[in-house]
Amino acid sequence: MDSTLPAVAQELLKEIRKAFQETSHVPDDLLLGLKFLFGPSAVPALDLVDQRSVTRVVSPSGRTAYQVLGSSGKLYTCYSSCHFCTCPAFGFTVLQKSESFLCKHILAVYLSRALGACQELTVSEEQLTSILLAEEEDEG
Ligand SMILES: [Zn+2]
Repeated sequence: MDSTLPAVAQELLKEIRKAFQETSHVPDDLLLGLKFLFGPSAVPALDLVDQRSVTRVVSPSGRTAYQVLGSSGKLYTCYSSCHFCTCPAFGFTVLQKSESFLCKHILAVYLSRALGACQELTVSEEQLTSILLAEEEDEG
């Protein structure tokens, strides 16, 4: 499922999940590993996880998307299956410049999954479709 991530990142997330299940705590060396691998995305992503900003949205047929409430109060949609986020940083630093392989929202999704910190929301097929198609226009 996380095949879009480099193996070393998958390993690290696995370690974090295991450590957290055993101790309810993420050890410092793994946090350092996150910073090393994900650079400037690591700390903001951990903040998003702390604030429980990640919601897993599921439809009755099992389609899934993640919504992440950004620090600016804007809601971004992350697609776990195709490794994509609707935020401007993803478009710029990941798609255009290839400086990074994810944004803080996608990292927050992976971390929330590893730490069991996702909120759950069940919606109808129509609602999920409109979430997936809404992109920028869901003001108000
Ligand atoms: Zn993003």
